[in-house]
Amino acid sequence: MENNQNKKKTPKGLIILGVIAFILLAGGITMIVISSTSDTESPGLIIGGSFAISIGSMLTFISLIPLIQKGMIKLNKHIIEQNKQDLKDISSATGDIASDGVKTIAKSATEGHIEAMDDKKYCKNCGKIIDNDSKFCSHCGTEQ
Ligand SMILES: [Zn+2]
Repeated sequence: MENNQNKKKTPKGLIILGVIAFILLAGGITMIVISSTSDTESPGLIIGGSFAISIGSMLTFISLIPLIQKGMIKLNKHIIEQNKQDLKDISSATGDIASDGVKTIAKSATEGHIEAMDDKKYCKNCGKIIDNDSKFCSHCGTEQ
């Protein structure tokens, strides 16, 4: 059982990736150091070393992604935990605003404030409601 849990926590592929990344980084750095300390110029070592370092850092980053994700989830949980009361307040306030909006619309509808759109249309320019037969918008003056 314990072995199974361990496998879940760190996939073998990622460990191998990490090892390869470390070897590439170490090898790349060694190559650069050797080329900079030796008397003869060796562009091959510099190019090879830089290449190994760049691939190595890429692999390091990839192998760290699950760790970063875990960290982010932990951080998010922590933030939510710390701000639980605020979040509750926000969600209840949002609910209040939404229900207020619904109440207002329902009230307008029952009181007949929302008119039938049969003889109305929307202005091409500003989008406000105007009479169907009006040639110009009564709000912005655009010809319809
Ligand atoms: Zn208009």
